[in-house]
Amino acid sequence: MTLFKLFKSIAPYVRPYKWLVAFALLLTFVGALTAQVNAYVLQYTVNSIATLLEQQKPLADGLSLVALISAILLGKEVLSILVTFGQKFFGEKIRILISKDLAQQVIEKVLTYRLAFFADDESGSGKLQTRIDQGVSSIVRTVQSFFIEIFPLFTSALVALIGMLNANLFVGLVALAIIPVYFFVSLQQAKRLKGWRREIRSYRENKSGGIINILESINVIKSFNREDIEAKKQFELQTALTDTQMKTRSTNFKYDGLKTFIEQIGIVIIIILTAYLVLAGKMQIGAIMLHIMLFNNVTAPIRQLHRIYGEVNDALIYAEGFFDIMNADHQVEQSGDYRPTNILGKFELKNVAFTYPNGTQALSGVDMTILPNRITALVGLSGAGKSTVVNLLDKFYEPDSGEILLDGVSLSDYDTRYLRENIGLVLQKNHIFSGTIAENILYGNPQASYEEMVDAAKQAYIHEEIIRHADGYNASALLLSGGQQQRIAIARLFLKKPPIIFLDEPTASLDAVATEQIKNSLDAIKKDRTVIMISHSISQFVDAEMIYVLKEGQVVEHGTHEEVYGQDGTYTEIFDSAVRSLNVEKISSSLR
Ligand code: ADP
Repeated sequence: MTLFKLFKSIAPYVRPYKWLVAFALLLTFVGALTAQVNAYVLQYTVNSIATLLEQQKPLADGLSLVALISAILLGKEVLSILVTFGQKFFGEKIRILISKDLAQQVIEKVLTYRLAFFADDESGSGKLQTRIDQGVSSIVRTVQSFFIEIFPLFTSALVALIGMLNANLFVGLVALAIIPVYFFVSLQQAKRLKGWRREIRSYRENKSGGIINILESINVIKSFNREDIEAKKQFELQTALTDTQMKTRSTNFKYDGLKTFIEQIGIVIIIILTAYLVLAGKMQIGAIMLHIMLFNNVTAPIRQLHRIYGEVNDALIYAEGFFDIMNADHQVEQSGDYRPTNILGKFELKNVAFTYPNGTQALSGVDMTILPNRITALVGLSGAGKSTVVNLLDKFYEPDSGEILLDGVSLSDYDTRYLRENIGLVLQKNHIFSGTIAENILYGNPQASYEEMVDAAKQAYIHEEIIRHADGYNASALLLSGGQQQRIAIARLFLKKPPIIFLDEPTASLDAVATEQIKNSLDAIKKDRTVIMISHSISQFVDAEMIYVLKEGQVVEHGTHEEVYGQDGTYTEIFDSAVRSLNVEKISSSLR
């Protein structure tokens, strides 16, 4: 990304604050003018004193001059304080406002992206967060430093240079000739620092990652007595970091010294030249002061150049990552506009194939018919493609080839939001948001009344347990056990009332008692709905009215339990090993 592209990308976010920006720029211009006042006042003072001395005027004349100068300098200082305050304040205000807009808009945008975007490695939750945070902060830092550093400094330098050229063309040209040398050295410094800045950043990231790793696996480290190895790893990182930090510092000191020297050469040349011009009677003595002070203003921004260059470079890198996320329009979820008055729930998959964005082929040649108001079970070993079927039916992903119909209409023609309104999904672990139990149930339908919410909790067989809690529905949902959380998820669906329900191993992470507890609520939610159920528990899938058996992404058998069991294939294998693992003989002998 180039600086020009960066500014073009930021422009839409700056535009709403254009008056604020215009005012900040006006202040910058005033600031650039006030920065030159000292130079001119000093010139005037020296010239006036020289004249007074020459003419041997009484001391009183001198005093009125001093009073005038003091008044001008103090007045300018007050103005300059106000201008600087304004610049900083408005610069900061622009930064905060743009930062707010960028952060909010990127979240709103990311929420519209299809699931494939999130499944991508580059968008792992941690990485996405870092890319967004770093992007926003470095973009706004650039905007801010543009308004309170870069622009004011360079404007002041330009005004000072014009002042020098105006006062004396030769002296001005000398200053102009020194700038490129100074500029070149600053740029070299910035380039040498660039690589190291990156190194330091990656060492820092590894170091903090390392500490998190240690904290996460402290049990393993201790049980294997590997504290020394972990400490050594950290020590090596620390040493590499310190080495690079030292290299950066010493380079900075060398270049800073060189720059000061070049600047001094410039000053010496200007002194010699102006002194000569004064002696030759072409200038008044005060011009020496004027030129030295203006030259100082000319070189000020270049003194900072290596730092500004480094910051802008970082900003370009981070901004690129940020705008890649922000402008990924091809990732926006597609939607049709078909919204039938009611959905029956008959799904037909015809020769469906699907590959995940990372290249894993999960389904191929899948044909399936899921009848409305029936319970269909998907059975297969782990990785067979069962969840993938559910992902496709919920339009989380689109098939590579083949066709999926719902009530005879292609799924891609459906309005995606409308479709999902009509589908309820219960997963192995349902996300409970931090907040109260009531808020969590109402996630199923934020418009529902309190009574409807309680009713849903009753249907999910969780009401009694909630009211036993001191805070009742206002208790924190995070306190609930796994089984209770699953029933909250089911209560959500009773509020949402979708005609279609997908159950993806809803009891897999629960213990036997919790599984039994939620059986009632599961049975209740299945009633009179189209249900697709994924389960490893034979007690759940044997009852299904239709079973589809998947193996390596293909349907290998289908029918009722009796029909598929009779085929002596994958289903029989899975069923028999499930029964064997139950140790039925021993269990039945001890049943009372
Ligand atoms: P099942 O539900 O039968 O256990 P899945 O449908 O989850 O199987 O997975 C089918 C295949 O797709 C597996 O090989 C799995 O590793 C792969 N897979 C599942 N989810 C993803 C994903 N988000 N990204 C890439 N590959 C995936």
